[in-house]
Amino acid sequence: MENVEFVKRRANVFKFLSTLYRDEISEDLMAKLADKGFVDKLNEFAKECKFSDMARGISRMAKYLGRYKGDKYKDLSYEYADIFLNAGANPALPYESVHATGEPVVMQKSVFDVRAAFRKAGVHKSDDYKDLDDYIAVELEFVRYLLEKGDTDAAADFMNNHLMNWIPEFHAALFNGATLDFYKGLSAFTLSFLFHESNGANPDYQDAIERLSEAIDQLNLGDDYYTLAEGVKEEEPEKKINSHCYMCGGLCGITDTVKDGILMRTGGLKGDPKSGGLICPKGASRRDYVYSAHRLKEPLIREGERFRKASWDEALDLVADKLMSIKEHGKEGSVVGYMDGNDWNRWLHKALWDWYGTHNISHRAMCDNSIRMSNEHNLNDKRPWLNTEESDYMIFFGQNAFATSYGRRQVGNLRKALKRGAKMVVVDPRKSDTAAAATEWIKIKPGTDGAMAMAMCYVIVKNELYDKDFVENWTYGFEDFKKRLLGEEDGVARTPEWAEKICGVPADTIERIAKEFATAKNKGVGSWTGTAHFPNAMHTTAAVQALNGLCGTFDAPGGPSLPFKRKLKGGWGEGQTKPASNAPPKLHKMRMWAGWCPSWFPEDVAKGRIKAMVQYFGSPILSWG
Ligand code: SF4
Repeated sequence: MENVEFVKRRANVFKFLSTLYRDEISEDLMAKLADKGFVDKLNEFAKECKFSDMARGISRMAKYLGRYKGDKYKDLSYEYADIFLNAGANPALPYESVHATGEPVVMQKSVFDVRAAFRKAGVHKSDDYKDLDDYIAVELEFVRYLLEKGDTDAAADFMNNHLMNWIPEFHAALFNGATLDFYKGLSAFTLSFLFHESNGANPDYQDAIERLSEAIDQLNLGDDYYTLAEGVKEEEPEKKINSHCYMCGGLCGITDTVKDGILMRTGGLKGDPKSGGLICPKGASRRDYVYSAHRLKEPLIREGERFRKASWDEALDLVADKLMSIKEHGKEGSVVGYMDGNDWNRWLHKALWDWYGTHNISHRAMCDNSIRMSNEHNLNDKRPWLNTEESDYMIFFGQNAFATSYGRRQVGNLRKALKRGAKMVVVDPRKSDTAAAATEWIKIKPGTDGAMAMAMCYVIVKNELYDKDFVENWTYGFEDFKKRLLGEEDGVARTPEWAEKICGVPADTIERIAKEFATAKNKGVGSWTGTAHFPNAMHTTAAVQALNGLCGTFDAPGGPSLPFKRKLKGGWGEGQTKPASNAPPKLHKMRMWAGWCPSWFPEDVAKGRIKAMVQYFGSPILSWG
């Protein structure tokens, strides 16, 4: 039977640690920690403690606290954001799930195990505390709870089965990621304290804990539990929820399996016309995306080169005040750009930004928008998907159609076409799944697909293999295009030899593929994100689609479809009025996205046409039009 007072003191140390990890340390608590009386006690502890690792950790914290002044608070705040809120390059990811699995994902098996331990003890994570069940502060507070209740066996079990399994790795990340002695010291002390907890019977350890607990009492941390609440929360049974995948614009129907509020897996929705009951690898990995430990957890405000945590109220007020202070907002001469990805609330955002008078564009984090821009401009359609069901000859530029298909049903159709004996040429620097299954895989230098497509157009035009009737009646600009191909415009003929020097594909291969394509019966050529993430993507797409234009494949069997665009019903309900639009004049002569082309963003900024940008659910760094 352990000494009751000693157990309470151990609980006190767990309370201290849980408090320091619970959230950003407040200025009030920092003032208490930096109080001379407390710092002296820490130094005294470090001097007397027989366990050098514990002493080193506390001594390092004391060193920082002894020099701390209120004006240093910001540094600590920035450090907290870097390490705990993922603002920095080396976050410590303070969740058991991450370190137990070795993957940067939360909500893994550890959470179920931690919840089972909570239920056994008659507690649950408080709904008022927003972080996760296996967050470091919650696990530390749970041990405090068990010790305060006198359940030392359960506390030891939890430490052995949980904290000790992952704190050493977390400590390595925190200690190496921290720059301030405060967090380095806290990290070192946390690890050594948990390690020495198994030495309960050692009188030197009991002395050390008594001394530290006395120092902690001086802080008046209070007796409340912040992360836990009394009462058992029963596990919710597994259920299926039907939804749509939003990892790309394909919007495949999906069925999520959810257990105790945690997404377990995602599969295709049976009978869904878009997915055909299947999903692609990207859609299937949705769980890792949703539960990525690198996601931002709180609003962050940038100050100079660093970020600090902000409340939602503060962050929203700041953005609203700054936007309203831009005098030019409104119909004439807007200088604000709004860029978003697709999400369910898009109609609402769009109304806000229309009212404000921004240049709106839509942009997913990784997507094909440069292709869309080109196609909407030239074809008045977003994505001319090939009708592979009927195709005899298909060419894919930068398109791994087996893996990412914008609706999984297309994969089935493609497989059937190949079984039927259709030829599939894949132009890709990488041996993707689709390239591996291709009749012919053409290894091209990254970002040079446009040169190959132009040279194929040259061969088709030069040899008069194009569909004259289609070109005359359904396309525009042929004579100008021909001049460019033949070099009559700038003296550079886009011959296969010219292209070979750029793209590395032998000239005779380019010529052969061009002739095969032009003379095949049912055919089509397409491109996807492999070509979209280059600055020349708009023009590459135009060159690829010119092959379809020259050969008259649009809406022909096996060719790309240009489906009728339906206007979907808006999100406004009965009695709700959409605010008036103050959409500004177009910035560029583009058909899509209010005429704002992200490729010209740097130039727009340099010329003062864009002074502010609001970015939502997308990243111009990762994907640019
Ligand atoms: S194709 Fe893949 S990523 Fe796109 S919606 Fe379907 S499952 Fe999701």
